[in-house]
Amino acid sequence: MTEDLIQQLVEDNFVIRRNGEAEVCHIDYHVEKVTALDGEGLVLETEEYLEATIKWDGCCHITFGDKGYLHLCGVYDIMAHLALIRFLWTDAAKALGIEEAEIVGEE
Ligand SMILES: [Zn+2]
Repeated sequence: MTEDLIQQLVEDNFVIRRNGEAEVCHIDYHVEKVTALDGEGLVLETEEYLEATIKWDGCCHITFGDKGYLHLCGVYDIMAHLALIRFLWTDAAKALGIEEAEIVGEE
C-alpha cells in the first residue's frame, strides 16, 4: 500500500485521539471506527475500535474490545501482523472464490 492510500483509509475510517505529546516514554491512542456519515461526509457515529500504547522501545500494546490484546514488539512484529492478516484474508478469498481478492494499492 502507498502512503497516500494508507492516509486515505485511516482518514475515511477512523477517529484517532492521541495522548502523550509531552510524554517521553510512550504515546497512547484511542481509536474509534466511523460507522455513519452525514450527506457532507461529516462523522455522525463511531464505535470503539482499539486502544494502543506505543513505547519508547518500539513495543506496542494494542487492545481490541474487552479481550483482544496484542503485544507487538517493534516494527518487525507490526509488519508480520499486517502480513498475516493480508495472508489470511487472501488465502480465504481464494478458497471461497471471493472476486475482490486483490488488495487495492499493491504494486
Ligand atoms: Zn515488546
